[in-house]
Amino acid sequence: MIPFNKPYITGKEVHYIYDAVSSGHISGNGKYTKLCQKYFEEKYGFKKVLLTTSCTDALEMCALLIDIKPGDEVIIPSYTFVSTALAFVRQGATIVFIDSREDNPNLDENLIEKLITEKTKAIVPVHYAGIACNMDKIMSIAEKYNLFVIEDAAQAIDSYYNGKPLGTIGHLSAFSFHETKNIQTGEGGMLGINDERFIKRAEIIWEKGTNRAEFFRGEVNKYGWVDIGSSFLPSEIIAAFLYAQIEFLDSIQTKRKEYWNTYYEKLKCLKGNHIDLIEVPDYATVNGHLFYILTKSDKERDELIKFLKVKDIHSVFHYLSLHKSEYYKNNSQKRPNLPNSDSYADRLLRLPLYYELRLEHVVEISEAIKEFYNE
Ligand SMILES: *Cc1c(COP(=O)(O)O)cnc(C)c1O
Repeated sequence: MIPFNKPYITGKEVHYIYDAVSSGHISGNGKYTKLCQKYFEEKYGFKKVLLTTSCTDALEMCALLIDIKPGDEVIIPSYTFVSTALAFVRQGATIVFIDSREDNPNLDENLIEKLITEKTKAIVPVHYAGIACNMDKIMSIAEKYNLFVIEDAAQAIDSYYNGKPLGTIGHLSAFSFHETKNIQTGEGGMLGINDERFIKRAEIIWEKGTNRAEFFRGEVNKYGWVDIGSSFLPSEIIAAFLYAQIEFLDSIQTKRKEYWNTYYEKLKCLKGNHIDLIEVPDYATVNGHLFYILTKSDKERDELIKFLKVKDIHSVFHYLSLHKSEYYKNNSQKRPNLPNSDSYADRLLRLPLYYELRLEHVVEISEAIKEFYNE
């Protein structure tokens, strides 16, 4: 069986974990946390990075940092993972769902302005599959209406918009190191801060509402409870694991992109007639996070999944549009009409893509799909 995903372990994780454990500092914000944060700050140019225990946590920190209050409206694509909405809903936000583009599942930036009201506080673009949203347009709308932009960059490590690393463009951003992502720590994430105004408060929210970080830098002579917050920081065990993955980032990316490109080359002959393929706008790059095809209908997709399963190939679909979810239906009177989001929910099929997949497998999977379509 070719599994859909297999989390990659570089081999150095246990070495660094051993080092962290034997150093005696196992709680958060130690040597490995600092090494990881420094790496991302220097490589991509964030003003500040804080590791978190998940991308969901990082998004929750964003909701706290921009002071989301009950009734505030946040514009979020419906075609995304639950956490993108959940983090803001927990603070009482009203979610305003926006439809996807026709050529890729990212939010359609041309629909944003119609959705803005006096209560709108933020826009949360999700870079689906690591493919950039139209950030210039989104940032200029945000500036015009004085809104915050929070990038859900969960899938977008090492991907770019017009040469700018994703996650460094909005005021804040959230990344995931869940085991399904390009680099992983089982469960983990990070908050990227690009607007300096947020740095000091983010450190406090991160460490249970205390000014502990300042205290350890010697900036204050005692620490205590100064704000709201939670325990958002991971232990050094998680950070040590992540550090091993970071050292491998470049080879992981090279291989994932090679597989992505091979899928595209092998399957492009089906484009138009049988399936649709991912469309990468000129301003975006591919980071090899996930490869999908779009079938003609949900029925055809089910048949293709079964066909591939018989050939021992595990393919999966996601997401159910959030505006069609049980939670949203039970908690909102609104029934937005989001045809593109619904269309991706019905037609999108993800193919296996991970570091330890082999090129022969990519070829074999592509051939199987062509066989299904008699090509
Ligand atoms: C994976 C993912 C998340 C959640 O990440 P966690 O680290 O599991 O909290 C959020 N948003 C998107 C778009 C994702 O793909």
